[in-house]
Parts: sequence; C-alpha cells; structure tokens
Amino acid sequence: MKPASFDYHRPQTVEDALGLLARFGETAKPIAGGQSLGPMLNMRLARPRHLVDLNDLVELDFVRVVDGVLELGAMTRHQRVATSAEVRRAHPLLAAAAATIGHYPIRQRGTLGGSLVHADPAAQMPLIAVLANARIVIGGVGGMREIAACDFFQSVMTVDLRAGEIVTSVRFPVLAPNAGWGFRLFSRRHGDFAMVAVAATLALADDGRVADLKVAVGGVASVPFRIDLDASVFAGATPTASWIEEISAHVAERIAPEDNALVPAEYRRELTEALVRDGIKDALRNTQVEAA
Ligand SMILES: Cc1cc2nc3c(=O)[nH]c(=O)nc-3n(C[C@H](O)[C@H](O)[C@H](O)COP(=O)(O)OP(=O)(O)OC[C@H]3O[C@@H](n4cnc5c(N)ncnc54)[C@H](O)[C@@H]3O)c2cc1C
Repeated sequence: MKPASFDYHRPQTVEDALGLLARFGETAKPIAGGQSLGPMLNMRLARPRHLVDLNDLVELDFVRVVDGVLELGAMTRHQRVATSAEVRRAHPLLAAAAATIGHYPIRQRGTLGGSLVHADPAAQMPLIAVLANARIVIGGVGGMREIAACDFFQSVMTVDLRAGEIVTSVRFPVLAPNAGWGFRLFSRRHGDFAMVAVAATLALADDGRVADLKVAVGGVASVPFRIDLDASVFAGATPTASWIEEISAHVAERIAPEDNALVPAEYRRELTEALVRDGIKDALRNTQVEAA
C-alpha cells in the first residue's frame, strides 16, 4: 500500500522543527528513522497531513557523559548506542540491549527517540529507560520539560507527549561501577520483537551480600515496568542459586500477563521466571567480573 498524501518538511534546526510542529498541530508528525512510522504510513494507520523529517537535526545526534549522567540525543541511532565506547563504559546494559534490536539495517536507521515515542510494550529501549530511571527531555515552542521514563509510558504506543512536542534527548544515570547487569529476551525468530524481555542490575556490598537489585520486565503488560522489589526481599541476602530461584518466582507471581490464544498467560509467566533467573545470574557473573 501507499501512504495517504502529505506535505514533506525537512527543517535544519530544532527551532524550525518545533515551529513547523506548532504551526500544524495535530495534523503533523515527526519522522525519525521511519522504521515504525514508515509501515504505519503505508498501511494508512497514520495519516498525517504534514511530515516533519528530523534527520537533518544533527544537534539531536550525540552521546555525552556529564556529572554521572549519560545523555543521548533523540536522533542517536540504535547502532551507535550499541557500539559507542562511551555508552559501553557508562551503561553497558543499554549498549547490550540496543545490540539486540531487530536486524542490522533496522539498527542503522532506528533512533532512540523514535523507539521511546513508538512505545512498543516489548521494545528494548523503553525497558532499559524504565529500569534505569532515565529522564526523557522534551522540547516544544513553549520550552523544555523533563519527565521520568516510568511516567512517560502510559499505555500501548501511548506516551506523555503533546502535539507540537518532540523528544530531544534521554538522560540515563551512569551505571554504578560495582553493579552487574543482565539482559535477556525471548522471541520466536531472531530479530523479532521480544515475547518477553527482562533487564536486571545487581550490586554487592563488600562482604559479598546483595546491596541492591533492580528488575524490569517488558512484553507482559501495556508498558514495560520495574518490579517494585521490597528491599527486605534482597538486602543483605547471599546471592545463592536458591535465592535467585526465589526472586524469579517472586517476580513471576507479581505480573499479570494477558491471556491469548497465541501466547497463553501461563507460558508468558514461566518465560518471565526463566528470563529473570538467567538475567540475575548474568548480573551476578558481571558483578564478580567487575570485582575481580
Ligand atoms: C522488522 C522490524 C523489526 C524490529 N524489531 C525491533 C525490536 O526487536 N525491538 C525494538 O525495540 N524495535 C524494533 N523495531 C522498531 C525499531 O526499533 C524502530 O526504530 C523504532 O520503533 C522507531 O524508531 P524510528 O527512529 O524508526 O522512529 P519512526 O518510525 O520514525 O517514528 C516512530 C514514532 O515516533 C515518533 N517520533 C520519532 N522520533 C521522535 C522524536 N524525537 N520526538 C517525538 N516523536 C518522535 C514518530 O512521529 C512516530 O510516531 C523493529 C522494526 C522493524 C521494521
């Protein structure tokens, strides 16, 4: 199919892009990598009258670390997130998750901002943003605002973004040097969206006991979410295999996956339990590598 007709705009500055989006309001849509919007236009699921192309906005394509925060411009491509030495140093979990998105050509075009705004419930970047307590920076003609990732994602493909606004960057707190991390996903075919994805970070105290544990799950609800683990479940625990089993079962009990003919809820729950187990094991292994 072919898209419904639209006027194409290619602004050269963020200011001009925001001016166009403000002028055309609800009838306009920004396009970044086009990996999700392209098919939606072709299928006429999206029919904007004006398409505002963000691809010349080089000021939105950057990676920098300032004061313990890794900030990435919204137009940073997945491939750069996956391979940048700076991202790998500051947030190896983010880099590792980006490397699993789709296939190479998709990673070459798809952007961090586009992935967050598209907000597929199983997508990697929203999951890591939620786990890491990232802050989404949003620009509009009225100025800038910042919102926590957990508040940005509202429902399936629905985010807190008003007409005329764009995501300009995303701020991830740098991963603590003593934190290990794990990222696991399951999909039927390589490159498909995950059926379930799990991310975890784990920090050990000097005596080898667990000081901090964070787990987030994607693909089991309308938005990715962090499991609200009570510190009493992990703080001071010795990270044995049985403790990991206990935590995985605990997480699996606290999700309520949708039941459908394609993927029964019980299957998704078991999958989640297995991925959490493996993700925490990876995190523990990483922690020990860091400590060695
Ligand atoms: C075959 C295939 C497999 C894929 N597999 C995966 C996968 O496994 N995991 C995964 O996470 N993703 C996957 N994707 C999606 C891919 O990651 C896309 O890059 C991403 O979903 C959208 O990013 P984009 O830059 O292409 O955005 P676009 O498609 O250009 O835009 C998507 C939406 O975001 C809006 N938008 C874009 N940028 C901004 C901005 N800066 N501010 C405000 N709004 C903006 C657009 O208006 C549109 O509504 C896959 C895509 C394909 C085609």
